[in-house]
Amino acid sequence: MPLFPDTIRPDEPRRRRREAPTAPSEPLKDKALEIYRRLCGVYECPIPYFHSLDPLSELISSLLSHRTRNADSGRAFKALRARWPDWAMVEEAGVAEIEETIRGVTWPELKAPRIKAVLSAVRDRVGSLTLDFLAAMSVDEARGWLEAIPGIGPKTSAAVLSFSTLRMPALPVDSHHHRVAQRTGLIGPKVDVGPSHAVLRAQLPDDWSAQALYDNHEVLMLHGQRVCFHRSPACDRCVLLDICPTGQVRVAKAAGRT
Ligand code: SF4
Repeated sequence: MPLFPDTIRPDEPRRRRREAPTAPSEPLKDKALEIYRRLCGVYECPIPYFHSLDPLSELISSLLSHRTRNADSGRAFKALRARWPDWAMVEEAGVAEIEETIRGVTWPELKAPRIKAVLSAVRDRVGSLTLDFLAAMSVDEARGWLEAIPGIGPKTSAAVLSFSTLRMPALPVDSHHHRVAQRTGLIGPKVDVGPSHAVLRAQLPDDWSAQALYDNHEVLMLHGQRVCFHRSPACDRCVLLDICPTGQVRVAKAAGRT
């Protein structure tokens, strides 16, 4: 492995600049903590990690999971591992074979070539198929390194650092987490999932552990899945109702007060 696997070669994509978000106000930080505290009470933090994959395997798992139900992406990941027990074999496999193996996920025809391209990019930059060296970097450096690979955005880079055996303090934001953050007013209505990562991370204490940031992500995600549904959020049984502007408008409308 090269001494400095993060060194950018001339033919490599340039790292995207990581923009620092505007510093959040104290009331917004307090609100983020209050939401975390209440939801942790409901969903019982600390939340156990759902698996323990090495970072490269977690990266492949994250690529499979995009816009796909967990059960389907989990099945596709297991099918890949059963057919090719190491990632070097997947790198050498044909796109059509990979596509056929992962057919249960959304857009297998896009994900199959992407998985091959990502594995090749890792080999080109590192000299072997491993991401274990990310453990020696800061979270920002490691995320920048991953996001320099085409097809890897903030959600995937944060998932690799947080969910894998690296257990680094990064905050992933999925669509459920994003929806709850938007409805409760932690982020504005025009902040997309990608940019929301930096905004939501900045609202939480700098020195939070990997477990605390993981819990924050998990409880907002669980709340989006179980209460703050996409179409009909169950505001009448939500522990955030008194601090959620969206919920208050919905409840007032239902009561005929607006
Ligand atoms: S009050 Fe309603 S809109 Fe607000 S977080 Fe709860 S379920 Fe979602």
